[in-house]
Amino acid sequence: VAKRLEKFKTTIFTQMSMLAIKHGAINLGQGFPNFDGPEFVKEAAIQAIRDGKNQYARGYGIPDLNSAIAARFKKDSGLVVDPETEVTVTSGCTEAIAATILGLINPGDEVILFAPFYDSYEATLSMAGADIKCITLRPPDFAIPINELRSAISKKTRAILMNTPHNPTGKMFTREELNEIASLCIENDVLVFSDEVYDKLAFEMEHISVASLPGMYERTVTLNSLGKTFSLTGWKIGWAIAPPHLTWGVRQAHSFLTFATNTPGQWAAAAALRTPDSYYVELKRDYAAKKQILVEGLKEAGFKVFPSSGTYFVVVDHTPFGLENDIAFCEFLIKEVGVVAIPTSVFYLNPEEGKNIVRFTFCKDEGTLRSAVERMKAKL
Ligand code: GLN
Repeated sequence: VAKRLEKFKTTIFTQMSMLAIKHGAINLGQGFPNFDGPEFVKEAAIQAIRDGKNQYARGYGIPDLNSAIAARFKKDSGLVVDPETEVTVTSGCTEAIAATILGLINPGDEVILFAPFYDSYEATLSMAGADIKCITLRPPDFAIPINELRSAISKKTRAILMNTPHNPTGKMFTREELNEIASLCIENDVLVFSDEVYDKLAFEMEHISVASLPGMYERTVTLNSLGKTFSLTGWKIGWAIAPPHLTWGVRQAHSFLTFATNTPGQWAAAAALRTPDSYYVELKRDYAAKKQILVEGLKEAGFKVFPSSGTYFVVVDHTPFGLENDIAFCEFLIKEVGVVAIPTSVFYLNPEEGKNIVRFTFCKDEGTLRSAVERMKAKL
């Protein structure tokens, strides 16, 4: 394997889902719903296939989807963007992140991450030859240590790669935090790459796109996808929204990574994004009920549960159960209890920082969540 990828192992999500199958454990690890996406979106994909929409799409997205993304972004953030020059459709948000990094970051540029971070960020920055600077968000509230962020910024800092609502912690960046980030970026001419795939799962506060802050649109790439919002994580439809001068870089990388994203999926995505807002209200209501089952259950089972404001994840402190670290705890949980969680130490540059924390997801039907909770209450 190439040196730039030597330190990375099989992703923790793949490892844990394989163990779940092997041990017949309930999988509250990898974040994928165990229920299906909406019928009308699936129908739209089937119809597109029947209608012969099966050849390469336009590289940066079928016009219909680019327009639907721009319309949705206007409703959500108030920003008016040109679907033709500021929206790029990609094969999932993970590709949008890769295209953004590979299209806009030079080897040796510094990029700031907040730990714990989603695993693809570090691997993709490594592929781009970027220097990673990491700021750790600490429990219980995972607030941004603004002074640390300020001192991490140097002349070589090209971008901050952030994620709100935040996987794995469920933290949402507050308006105050976003204002601080914005003023640091403007002052030091730094870009922001903002992964907002959980924006529709904001429970405790309003989601704010950093691009909507004064002076930020011109220096921000906003990244999103269909998967979480429409419970279709296997479709891999994502996008990047950015002003034309940044979109140019994103598109250059995208052209040579995947060239274009699957065509019928794009037609269906356009239909999905045009759904009335009531869909999102219902989605959130369903997830709020699931969240309550899991959070209450984890507390009753004896975990110290950290507050999660958004995403379909919640992190806990497992140390009341006396295992030495997050990996040992997750192994114990799979083998002795029959439940899968995700150890978080892999989401830090320094694994020690995550050794007390594990992540559970509640993107499962209520029966599954109840059985997992029962197992933990009985056996922990
Ligand atoms: N985003 C999903 C999670 O955090 C995992 C996706 C993957 O398996 N790479 O659980």
